[in-house]
Amino acid sequence: MDQTLWIRSYRRYVKPLLGRSASQLASEFIRRILILRVTPGFTRVLGLQNPRSRELIEIDITYICNLKCFNCNRSCEQQPTNDHMSVGQLRYFLEQSRARGVKWKRIRLVGGEPTIHPKFMDVVNLLLQYRDTYCPDTRIELTTNGYGRYVNKVIGKIPPGIEVHNSAKESQVQPTFSTFNVAPIDEPEYAKAEFANGCPITSECGIGLTPYGYYPCAIAGAIDRTFGLDLGRKELPDFDDNMEPELRRFCALCGHFKRDREAPVDGPVQSPVWRAAYARARCQPPRLSRFPEMNEPGPGKP
Ligand code: SF4
Ligand code: SF4
Repeated sequence: MDQTLWIRSYRRYVKPLLGRSASQLASEFIRRILILRVTPGFTRVLGLQNPRSRELIEIDITYICNLKCFNCNRSCEQQPTNDHMSVGQLRYFLEQSRARGVKWKRIRLVGGEPTIHPKFMDVVNLLLQYRDTYCPDTRIELTTNGYGRYVNKVIGKIPPGIEVHNSAKESQVQPTFSTFNVAPIDEPEYAKAEFANGCPITSECGIGLTPYGYYPCAIAGAIDRTFGLDLGRKELPDFDDNMEPELRRFCALCGHFKRDREAPVDGPVQSPVWRAAYARARCQPPRLSRFPEMNEPGPGKP
């Protein structure tokens, strides 16, 4: 090793650690191990850390929200829209699940604020009917922000059999949100990451369904409406399909990919790739192909 290389390595790896306490050094060590784990070499040898769930699904039934939180991972504040899934799209999804013999362990309705969906009660009744007639063990959950009189009025009318998770948000500043809009591809440490090695959301929350189709997680669908990659699948992925091509594209843009334990942020934070994408989407919102719909069967038809 020549002298310049020694000096460069010292500046890069040793100098930043000088003067740190033992606990700071320990957490920096863990952080570097976690970043190493998502390099292509480690991913090839050890496999994906968080393979997508085969039995859980989150459905973004609407992107309308009455609360515009900073760093919302559906971009409801950064790129508002009134877009939502139709009841026909939900019907198509349930029929497709039945036809493919998929029995969901959990279906979670999210958004946006799902209770603001213009046909919210129809959506709820459709899901209850699916569970009662086909899959009695499916847990149906709803995640709501619990904000405002209208939302709370709708929550009060939700029939039994739906598990309501109310995050009771009160303002735009969310004490647990971190930098969703800081893309790992904008961070030098992640320049060589294997982005198919996604974060735990795809295994813990499940795959995502949005007005534009299936994604490895619902957040990826929301990223698509800003970047316009139009990668929503219209067919349920096969069991042995990890959706790696989609993970490679979306996780490279998604702040949740970063393995750092980040402090919460109290205002909007965006890296260059996101700033540019929001500016483009404001001028010309991407047009994504839509998930198919299924009409209600007519009288006398099965
Ligand atoms: S309540 Fe949820 S969906 Fe609405 S802006 Fe906040 S984080 Fe986004
Ligand atoms: S797109 Fe984001 S939330 Fe989804 S798996 Fe990748 S890193 Fe996680």
